[in-house]
Amino acid sequence: MRILVVEDEKNVANAIRKGLGTEGYAVDIASDGREGLWYATEHPYDVIILDIMLPEIDGFAVCKALRGADNWTPVLMLTARTAEEDEATALDLGADDYLSKPFSLVVLKAHIRALVRRGSEPRPSSIEIGALKVDPAARKCWVSDATIQLTTREFSVIEFLARNPDRVVSKLDVLDNVWDYNFDGDPNIVEVYVRRLRTKLNLPDVGPTINTVRGAGYRLEMPAKEQGETS
Ligand code: CA
Repeated sequence: MRILVVEDEKNVANAIRKGLGTEGYAVDIASDGREGLWYATEHPYDVIILDIMLPEIDGFAVCKALRGADNWTPVLMLTARTAEEDEATALDLGADDYLSKPFSLVVLKAHIRALVRRGSEPRPSSIEIGALKVDPAARKCWVSDATIQLTTREFSVIEFLARNPDRVVSKLDVLDNVWDYNFDGDPNIVEVYVRRLRTKLNLPDVGPTINTVRGAGYRLEMPAKEQGETS
């Protein structure tokens, strides 16, 4: 495991290196944003720990630049305990997690383990499938560039479907991902939401469509190409 720490406070950076080093992580330290961006671009890392207040380029800009360059290494932002808006900004810019200073090494290690498990799969800030566009960070949804007003739960349902295109998702999958774990109502509530989404989104013929797969669940997919069509 190789970890990059972008932090200008030497004592914090060294404490992290020491703490993670004993666990067998290889830790590189960059002491400003420009250097951090260079390291992150030149070497593969399992996790990047990124401070916000940095000389040269701040942590937000580093994170944005990485995601813009299709670098999906998990990013853990270090935020100030007093600045909640920093946490929201970090997530909006593509960070995966945040930890407010000061933190304990035990907690830091737990966050890192979770991020390593997640891996570096692309997690674009918006998902586009045909005419449908969903932005999970901004919690916005568009069809053919027109904004669609959805309730929080409606949005979560379409987000989940959009994250799993061409795949059959069961009502229980939707419940597990959208409702909290102690929901013990009727799974058919999912049907109600899918019906509402079909009406509100009013997806055009070019697709995608939310199809019902009898006895199995739902599948968000683009319409099948007509036979004989060449393109
Ligand atoms: Ca700093």
